[in-house]
Amino acid sequence: MTSARIVVAGSLNADLTIYCERLPSPGETLHGSGFAVNPGGKSANQAVSAAKLGGNVTLLGAVGEDPNGDMLVASTAGAGVDVSHVRRVAEPTGVAVISVEDSGENSIIINAGANGTLSPADMSPAVFVGAGVVCLCLEVSLDTVQAAAQAGHDAGATVLLNLSPYAPVTEGLARLTDVLLVNAHEASQFLDGFHLPAPDAPVGAWAGAVEKFASRGLNKVLVTLGAAGSVVLDSTNAAQPVARIAPTRVDAVDTTGAGDAFTGGVAARLAAGDTLVDAAHYASVAAALAATKKGTQTAYPTVAEVAARL
Ligand code: ADP
Repeated sequence: MTSARIVVAGSLNADLTIYCERLPSPGETLHGSGFAVNPGGKSANQAVSAAKLGGNVTLLGAVGEDPNGDMLVASTAGAGVDVSHVRRVAEPTGVAVISVEDSGENSIIINAGANGTLSPADMSPAVFVGAGVVCLCLEVSLDTVQAAAQAGHDAGATVLLNLSPYAPVTEGLARLTDVLLVNAHEASQFLDGFHLPAPDAPVGAWAGAVEKFASRGLNKVLVTLGAAGSVVLDSTNAAQPVARIAPTRVDAVDTTGAGDAFTGGVAARLAAGDTLVDAAHYASVAAALAATKKGTQTAYPTVAEVAARL
């Protein structure tokens, strides 16, 4: 079976990462122990993950006419992503300034830059025609995300929304979302502080969460639980409303961008015709392998690497 086309619409950022013993307090200056500039941004990461996992991916976004923009276009195109809809604009490319302390704890400030120029008018329905899957996150304006979701919905695509970084979602956007992807923190925020079951709780313990999401218009939800794996909630599947996806055991070196590797994996496998549970199994292996190397896009595994661990 040939894979349906995937449209990823959203952010591209240069990740400027400085490593330090501990994060500075306000007003404090510290010496760092290393610095790196890497391609990032949730949508660019998700597009690269999906393409490396066999997806036919088009990325819709904007970068500046600057070296960071060149780096991002080269990285995404190098992974096989169609970048003909990544606009070059006068604003500087988006950046994420990331501080990582020795404990692994980090702090991140994002400057939208070129990503902030994306508007609903950029979500041209023509780009979405023929798409099987549309993949969205919240690093661009909610209006833009909503327009992309509408275009994807109108094209008959499955609309995936990664609720990150967390922002309250309008009822309209929830209605256009076919599959919500959230980590445990975002899930709890979305459900107004609802306590999720412990990762080792029996699947029946998730019944309340299934109901809560469904009452907000979200019938299919993937909740990622870091090293504890993930859970598939599907209120439309009477036989199996909850499926627990066990983690793939790896020696994790850097889990930055693991969630994006997971989202890209789900998009690639849904586009290839997998069920949601099968797609989540596959994505879980891909995300675990991504955590075994430093960085994000360059650390993401290929089809062959995932096949070796399935
Ligand atoms: P986010 O990066 O969005 O916070 P998570 O930390 O929940 O997302 O990670 C996303 C997915 O990546 C998890 O559901 C899991 O499949 C995989 N993953 C993350 N960390 C590890 C780890 N240490 N070992 C194995 N898999 C991991």
